[in-house]
Amino acid sequence: MITLIERANSFSERIAIKSDGQNYTYNRLLEQSASVAAYLLQDQKDLNEARIAFLVPASFSYAAVQWGIWRAGGIAVPLCEKHPLPSIQYVLEDTKATTVIYTEAFEELLSPLFKSTNIQFLKYADITPKKCELPTITLDRRALILYTSGTTGLPKGVVTTHANIEAQITALTTSWEWNKNDHVLNVLPLHHVHGIINMLSCALWSGACCEFLPKFSPKAIFDIFSKDALNIFMAVPTIYFKLITYFNELPQNEQLAISDHLSKFRLMVSGSAALPVSVLEEWKDISGHTLLERYGMTEMGMAISNPYNGTRRPGHIGQPLHGVSIRLADENNNAVAVGEQGEIQIKGPNVFKEYWGKPDATAETFTQDGWFKSGDIAIFDIDSYQILGRNSVDIIKSGGYKISALEIEEVLRTHPNIKDCGVVGIPDLEWGEIIGASIILKFGELSTDDLTSWIQEKLPAYKTPRRFVFQDDLPRNVMGKVTKNEIKKLFI
Ligand code: ATP
Ligand code: MG
Repeated sequence: MITLIERANSFSERIAIKSDGQNYTYNRLLEQSASVAAYLLQDQKDLNEARIAFLVPASFSYAAVQWGIWRAGGIAVPLCEKHPLPSIQYVLEDTKATTVIYTEAFEELLSPLFKSTNIQFLKYADITPKKCELPTITLDRRALILYTSGTTGLPKGVVTTHANIEAQITALTTSWEWNKNDHVLNVLPLHHVHGIINMLSCALWSGACCEFLPKFSPKAIFDIFSKDALNIFMAVPTIYFKLITYFNELPQNEQLAISDHLSKFRLMVSGSAALPVSVLEEWKDISGHTLLERYGMTEMGMAISNPYNGTRRPGHIGQPLHGVSIRLADENNNAVAVGEQGEIQIKGPNVFKEYWGKPDATAETFTQDGWFKSGDIAIFDIDSYQILGRNSVDIIKSGGYKISALEIEEVLRTHPNIKDCGVVGIPDLEWGEIIGASIILKFGELSTDDLTSWIQEKLPAYKTPRRFVFQDDLPRNVMGKVTKNEIKKLFI
């Protein structure tokens, strides 16, 4: 049995989800997901891991569809609400989805596919209350295909089993002390591990309440903070950045009221991309909370986290979560000495089963002795891990040095007129790579000469950017992650 769904029986009349101005109990979720399962099964006994895609807004309906697919024995493939049709088509073709469940809001977007494919398109509104015998699902079955964020290339379909999902949930619920009195606000899209596992599934596992924001805006988030008895919030660094900018423009009495509400939270988390120390500090001034930064990937859920109880070190991601083993390894997959940089490699029941339809890519991403190679470089410093960046785009190989772009970005962000920046390696015949920086200014202008002399006082010559571009904003994907390959193109 799927433990996540089984547990819901004991939470019966507690509120599972708040969305669209309504409260939905666990019983309601069990009933509606059973109806979705019956609707999908029609005359079959078991969907037998058929890929069922769905384009449903982050809401009660989303959870009912996801659970319904699982209860009918299918693999859930959540589609991204913000993606244009070609990106949706890519996922449908890659997974060979047999069915798509969609809501009214997406009918127009999807309509060109209704006749041009053999996929069955089912409207969520046509689901009627229904019961039927449901198949027995063992935990080793494939449950989800989530696509990676596509930050470094084409998104890859990551397959996780029910057992993987259960391990990802328990790692977090144990380490962050989730309980049934928790109430989390979800502002993230639900085609990504951050929203699906860290918020929705952890809340439902715990008998807690997951609330969905109807439409993203800093104002809407602060309004809900002030209205509802929330106690957990999670977001990506760009969202904290937007909230801080909005907050700073509010009148003082409103700021004081917001800070008062925020001080009542028990947990505020950041992840999915490196959290700039400046954002951590400004959010602390506003909320009184040192954001808990954690590290994870679509391929394994969360793996490393700052402590729930204990000191959270700015710029650090903390220690392995409950049940997760971590090592840092060199190019030959040998563990490096303590204090040396290496690739984060992971073992544990949380680690995914395979890349969908890509056996070669799956084989390449595991070492012979079964460690998953993350592609992220880190060091272990005194008591916790520190991320230096992705080997492919953030570790700049220049004149024999391996330089962390994230470290240079942190220094640049301390300049009084730099709002944000993205540092990359630019191919160079003499040095291998030289350092380029895309700069977003707070106001006015800044000359390259002034910036160069300022940074020369802060960093050794080999870490000093040689080239700069000034932009209005950094290129980002739908998860708010900076797409460094786009920045690189500006210099070539
Ligand atoms: P793709 O694999 O398609 O290029 P992606 O790696 O961004 O996209 P995700 O699985 O969403 O797809 O993101 C995982 C990556 O996010 C990690 O490998 C790591 O590089 C980055 N990441 C996550 N948390 C942190 C963090 N706290 N600090 C720095 N980087 C982080
Ligand atoms: Mg990745």
